[in-house]
Amino acid sequence: MSLSRRNLLQGASGAATACLMAGGAALVAHPAQARPAQALRPPGALPEADFLAACVRCGLCVRDCPPHNLRLSEFGDGVGRDVAIGTPYFVARDIPCEMCEDLPCVKACPTGALDPALQQIEKAQMGLAVLIDHESCLNFLGLRCDVCYRVCPVIDEAITLEKVSNPRSDRHAMLLPTVHAEACTGCGKCEKSCVLEQAAIKVLPRELAQGQLGGHYRKGWEAENRGFQPQFNLPTQRLPEQAVPGDLAPLRSGAEPYARAASEAQR
Ligand code: SF4
Ligand code: SF4
Ligand code: SF4
Repeated sequence: MSLSRRNLLQGASGAATACLMAGGAALVAHPAQARPAQALRPPGALPEADFLAACVRCGLCVRDCPPHNLRLSEFGDGVGRDVAIGTPYFVARDIPCEMCEDLPCVKACPTGALDPALQQIEKAQMGLAVLIDHESCLNFLGLRCDVCYRVCPVIDEAITLEKVSNPRSDRHAMLLPTVHAEACTGCGKCEKSCVLEQAAIKVLPRELAQGQLGGHYRKGWEAENRGFQPQFNLPTQRLPEQAVPGDLAPLRSGAEPYARAASEAQR
């Protein structure tokens, strides 16, 4: 083969290899940019960009996860198709996190992609539950369900039931599941257990689920804000001593909402 022809072929094969490598890199890099909302990271995962930089795709966290809720993403169908290749994730509706007290996934991680500073699973923030569909949730329809509330491992802290008047009957209460972000670990048990065909409550990555107040807002009713805020002697709202139909306060207190006032009863 002449030198020029060999050079030509080498050049062509080099260019083809470079193209393949670039294509492969693009394929691998693309899913890393957009993680589907259903794909939750294990407890202690660093913020996504730092996590992707630190995770060496060894799969040790997946190996040591007792309920096998963690998976390594791979090419193919399903949620994992769009998660950065080889990185661990779980889908709450399939198998939620069991919130192991000894955090085997975090202990298995050799790189700190799952932050070893996380010592208590109750402090994990894998995601945030959101009651996403008020129109289908059985409790919002005035029926009794509460399943998501009862399965929550942080019951009465991460999810509470807020009692409000049912405007449809005007004499019954509705118990609305309400999520509290500071206590929710994002384990996904509520989403897994929702009795509907499609869960009305879903766990989403926190950056999708949570809003953020502008820094200029001050909650004047919080103690730490009172010191440097102008003090207003706001008038206290005076509620009527006797409830009228539609009042929510008596329902919250458990008082009988339609009992007649003593003065009225004597007449
Ligand atoms: S806490 Fe337990 S169940 Fe949850 S991801 Fe880690 S090993 Fe798996
Ligand atoms: S153990 Fe750590 S480095 Fe290995 S796959 Fe899991 S998160 Fe990534
Ligand atoms: S389990 Fe589902 S339907 Fe039942 S209260 Fe919770 S969100 Fe509503």
